[in-house]
Amino acid sequence: MIYSKPTFKEKYHNFINGKFEAPVDGQYFDNHSPVDNKVLAQYPRSNEKDVKLALDAANDAKDSWGKTSVAERAEILHKIADAIQENLREFAEMDTADNGKSIRETINADVPLAIDHFRYFASAIRAEEGSATELNENTLSLVIREPLGVVAQIIPWNFPLLMLAWKVAGALAAGNCVILKPAEQTPASATFLAEKIADLLPPGVFNVLHGFGPEVGKPLASSPRVDKVAFTGETTTGQLIMQYASKNLNPVTMELGGKSPNVFFSSIMDHDDAFLDKCIEGAVLFAFNQGEVCTAPSRLLIQEDIYDAFIKRVIERVNAIKMGDPFDENTMMGAQASNDQQEKILSYIKIGKEEGAEVLTGGGAAKLEGDLANGFYIQPTMLKGHNKMRVFQEEIFGPVVAVCTFKDEAEAIEISNDTMYGLGAGVWTRDAHQIYQVPRAIKAGRVWVNCYHDYPAHAPFGGYKKSGFGRENHLMMLNHYRQTKNMLISYDKNKL
Ligand code: NAD
Repeated sequence: MIYSKPTFKEKYHNFINGKFEAPVDGQYFDNHSPVDNKVLAQYPRSNEKDVKLALDAANDAKDSWGKTSVAERAEILHKIADAIQENLREFAEMDTADNGKSIRETINADVPLAIDHFRYFASAIRAEEGSATELNENTLSLVIREPLGVVAQIIPWNFPLLMLAWKVAGALAAGNCVILKPAEQTPASATFLAEKIADLLPPGVFNVLHGFGPEVGKPLASSPRVDKVAFTGETTTGQLIMQYASKNLNPVTMELGGKSPNVFFSSIMDHDDAFLDKCIEGAVLFAFNQGEVCTAPSRLLIQEDIYDAFIKRVIERVNAIKMGDPFDENTMMGAQASNDQQEKILSYIKIGKEEGAEVLTGGGAAKLEGDLANGFYIQPTMLKGHNKMRVFQEEIFGPVVAVCTFKDEAEAIEISNDTMYGLGAGVWTRDAHQIYQVPRAIKAGRVWVNCYHDYPAHAPFGGYKKSGFGRENHLMMLNHYRQTKNMLISYDKNKL
């Protein structure tokens, strides 16, 4: 199959109240493709005036949308999934053009997972049951869930469509109206989705506002006319958003950064070539798909006695990674998302070298040919050092893996937890005790054991520590988007 950059219009608009609206002040910004640094299209540089329009629309729509039946909402969510499915290739090409990640990722993972999220929440709300408790023979306690109303959702650029789906599917399923702010680096697929589903939802239920964080995200998150703020992005931005929302005592959920340990115990080398091959892939594949994944296994911990043999195989595999044109379906590593991102990653590689880390492989920008020479590419890089170094402690968000060794299980757990983050972790072992006890001891919201980077819609995802709080995916997400009403009913004719 031949994939290519899709054709974009010159200019796009916000999606408010079921219509595409030019920004009130008429300002736009250029959106560049990191693949070749060419301008893809212009998007609105919205401000508080556009926020007001979206708030008006969503607040007008919330009562009637909140009263739709579960069956009705489920059907609409399935139709949204159908709309994405029917345009799967276009969504994948759009995210690849916008974000720079390889087409094999967007077409096989990002877009199919987004479809599945809408289908999962469509089904989940149909299967839910409530709770009624007889407190005594005359008193019944009923627990009823009600939508919050209008929710502001602010998302990052690393999975443009999938992060949208993680936020929007559950919020709509729970009966809320959504005002979504995509990242300014990747505005395309949210707009494309709005085009495809404009007729499926009543006006005002789903709104998209483009622009920059301080200009549009801040007034949105600060507004007393939203009932909740959901954020995915950097920890420092999350701290600001919590301040804005706190003025209105609004609930927030936070999906923030990570520095996930990926821990390999000696037993993986025990007489099973197929399992060892899987471990090598587990160390390499998920770290080097540009590394712009919040749960990227960016710290590689290897037990001392297998270090030499294991790292040799890992480096061979890293050196076999095919990087290049993101639209080539054989490309494993595409472009970093932006010029800023490339510069940030290169500055961390420099910091690592200055800190005395040993460069095991990579260590700089990758030089590609033709138009791609203007894009933002980094060599897959491994730096060996110790866990106190900045490259082990700070989120680089690029294809840079910090490697260290550990003596025993206790030290593996200590190093794993010696971080301000707690989002993901990987544990690779054939020891039955370790399979259970090590993940229990690691303070992270998702620990993969003998696997990595699986994101099923029906498994809860979220962080410990400064990686955030609240969970997305899974049925439990719905309760982050609903109020709990308790009705206490007395059937006693006489007594109060
Ligand atoms: P970012 O924090 O810079 O931006 C995220 C969003 O917030 C963007 O839409 C941006 O415009 C907006 N924003 C920025 N400043 C704002 C402000 N002052 N007020 C309101 N909105 C503001 O993050 P990013 O660079 O786009 O994304 C990368 C980060 O996202 C990484 O730290 C990564 O780990 C994290 N991430 C976390 C998860 C998760 O589920 N935990 C998933 C994906 C990405």
